[in-house]
Amino acid sequence: MNKSPDAHRMEKIVSLCKRRGFIFQSSEIYGGLNGCWDYGPLGVELKRNLKDYWWRIMVHERDDVVGLDGSILMNRAVWKASGHEDTFTDPMVDCRSCKARLRADQLVEKNGIKQCPNCGGKDLTAPRAFNLMFKTFVGATEDESSLTYLRPETAQAIFVQFKNILEVSRKKLPFGIAQIGKAFRNEINPRNFTFRSREFEQMELEYFCRAEEGMQWLDYWKEERLKFYENIGIPRDNLHALTVPDEERAFYSKGTYDIEYDFPFGRQELEGVAYRTDYDLSQHQKASGKSLEYFDEETKQKFIPHVVEPSAGVDRTVLALICEAYSEDEAPDEKGKMETRIVLRFHPRIAPIKCAVFPLLKNKQPLVAKAKEIVALLRPHMYVFYDETGAIGRRYRRQDEIGTPFGVTVDFETLGEKDPALRDTVTLRDRDSMKQERVPVKDLPSILVSRIS
Ligand code: ATP
Repeated sequence: MNKSPDAHRMEKIVSLCKRRGFIFQSSEIYGGLNGCWDYGPLGVELKRNLKDYWWRIMVHERDDVVGLDGSILMNRAVWKASGHEDTFTDPMVDCRSCKARLRADQLVEKNGIKQCPNCGGKDLTAPRAFNLMFKTFVGATEDESSLTYLRPETAQAIFVQFKNILEVSRKKLPFGIAQIGKAFRNEINPRNFTFRSREFEQMELEYFCRAEEGMQWLDYWKEERLKFYENIGIPRDNLHALTVPDEERAFYSKGTYDIEYDFPFGRQELEGVAYRTDYDLSQHQKASGKSLEYFDEETKQKFIPHVVEPSAGVDRTVLALICEAYSEDEAPDEKGKMETRIVLRFHPRIAPIKCAVFPLLKNKQPLVAKAKEIVALLRPHMYVFYDETGAIGRRYRRQDEIGTPFGVTVDFETLGEKDPALRDTVTLRDRDSMKQERVPVKDLPSILVSRIS
């Protein structure tokens, strides 16, 4: 069977991710662990740049948001009160022919009859609710009294710490609490590479406001989040803000947008922006018996704030960034013959390595010394990679393939050997245009910082 161009593209992306050290299968030498992934040397940089930029935009560049880093394990009472223990489920069916466990809402349908997507079998069990939370035990006894769960979302720590943060930050409504951290879901069918994993990271903001302003803030955050994706290199045309229909929204939500991206395997959710009303804080106030109310000094009223939640997935966004960046074009090899060039066109802001520095020849000591000096000059400002092996064209290609936006080459002109006017200048190559400009070494930090921040 011929693969579709999109399936082929996805295969190339997965293979590049492994070959160049972005993403590996977890526990690979033992056959892997389904739904779990490890980020290699380049993947960890990409992920970190994404999280840092999110934190910068959502916390540091605002007056109305503060951060939290909550624990992954929480009192089981949290998950009872939030509703997760009873209702955080997906409908599951078993295929009696091939024994596959399947999500009931992901079956294929032919001529009106539901079928197993693996074997085409029609002998399926009736759907039953499967709770997605991983169970664990705290302490030495493994019984009901020590049972809790790995958190399936980061948000609940924000709700249960609402009062503490309100007191220490002395924020007035509207204000938000942001958090980035791991979440765990025992997904029935992990798939599409890292898209649906069992262990993943979320970047969540809970933005507290007055009830009458909830719908306005929902629209505000939808627009802010779309801008965020554009600012990391995902064009608006490939993003979609879907209004989640009434019947698919959580019962307590008054409005939800799903921000979706056109992945090679289809249009899928990157982030949910949900107006959750006062549901979470009310539930925790009721269950804990502790007041989670806000006191409005002007009106002297006490009330439970409403909340709008933009909840984004780190791993899904990293995957979208890689899919968006992947491209192939033609570039001349050493002998001038055109060859296919694989380029990851990352926005410089999130590229794992910002600049590669090359001495033209590795056996000319003054070139090597100068190149190493430039590396030391740039290192306090950005992640720099030094490479002296192979022909210069090959070195450029290796960096193109991992998305390094800038390359600096130290040549004999830099040493002032050909033209004294060019002493202490280097060529600065742009990954996308492949154009080279001659710039003074002393200007490199400021030129590059302005292009990557
Ligand atoms: P889906 O419908 O795709 O399962 P969801 O609507 O259950 O997602 P939310 O509970 O809204 O997801 O979680 C917020 C964000 O967390 C999602 O938009 C996604 O980016 C991320 N996320 C959720 N589940 C997973 C997962 N299994 N793997 C990777 N990221 C996930």
